Amino acid sequence: MVTKDELWRYFSPDYVIARQRFLDAAEQAGAKVTSIPISVRGPSDEILTIDVAYIGVENPSRMLIHTSGVHGVEGFPGSANQIRLLERLSAGELQVPDDTGLVVAHSINPYGFAWLRRVNEDNADLNRNFLPPGEPYAGEPDRYHELDGFLNPRTYKSPLDMFTLRAAWVMLKMGFNVAKQTIAEGQFERPKSMNYGGHQMSEGPKLWLEYLTDVLPSVKRAVWIDFHTGLGPFGEDSLLVSNELGEESFSSLTTRYGSRIQPLDPDAGVAYRIRGGMLEGLAARFTDIDWTLITQEFGTYKPVKVIKTLRAENRMTQWSNIGKRERLHSTERLMLVEIFSPKSDKWRVMIMDRGQALIDDALADL
Ligand SMILES: [Zn+2]
Repeated sequence: MVTKDELWRYFSPDYVIARQRFLDAAEQAGAKVTSIPISVRGPSDEILTIDVAYIGVENPSRMLIHTSGVHGVEGFPGSANQIRLLERLSAGELQVPDDTGLVVAHSINPYGFAWLRRVNEDNADLNRNFLPPGEPYAGEPDRYHELDGFLNPRTYKSPLDMFTLRAAWVMLKMGFNVAKQTIAEGQFERPKSMNYGGHQMSEGPKLWLEYLTDVLPSVKRAVWIDFHTGLGPFGEDSLLVSNELGEESFSSLTTRYGSRIQPLDPDAGVAYRIRGGMLEGLAARFTDIDWTLITQEFGTYKPVKVIKTLRAENRMTQWSNIGKRERLHSTERLMLVEIFSPKSDKWRVMIMDRGQALIDDALADL
């Protein structure tokens, strides 16, 4: 268990320090490390990499994959949990079972992590960027156009924004669940707007897919935990799965992982259905594997506040003339970090605890 006084060792102030701590912890744990560079740079012109630690035998038949930072800034708490995981392995508090491999991937979106954005260098939400093979990067939810003007104003600041009032009106007009689904599903038509899924698979996701293609051939059974924040009650996790309520596979997940398991159905919990999600998009490319795919989502602030912050940050990025590096110190970026990695000790202790507990459950499940 991580106490309040130890949190500073896990929660890093920026991407560069987080990355170095991850690499050090991986080396300590005797992991094989692969650093995959992308072609864009960080704020200090540093190279940005997807770093992957591998622990276990070669060609295992079972695999546990733990990913974080798909949404850039969510890498702060994700990295904290992964550093803790590696430390527990070094200390012998946790063992990777026989015939099993453990893949720990730090920051699938290193650009967003380093530049304090949720999206990547293409303004793409990477959890909408993994469309299954053959599906075109086109289309948007039926009613997205009704919300576009509200979500994505074409100016940096307006004298009278009335965000909360307008948000309340949208909820009233559409209904909360329809609005949630319409906003969050992902759109492939408006590159400067929020919830954009990209015009093709981005560079980082392609490289990550290549890495998996190298390590997965022997694998028959895999559990994949993708770590996220920003949805649900403060400090509590929901385990989002694409299995439907009432399916046998859903109840068997509940048996193994408890009542935190939730379907993606917008009417049945905190979540929503998405297009281009990483877990389903990549699992669809490895159909011989028996997959358990879990998005671990830790709640932070209320949905209206989360959307308000995302909107303000995207608006500043797209429409202000603040210089690229100065944006790092803008209220909008700093607020975005707070929304996805609250500076609350209580929150941090809670997510460290549950983050590790889920890894233990997943190893037991394998
Ligand atoms: Zn996320």
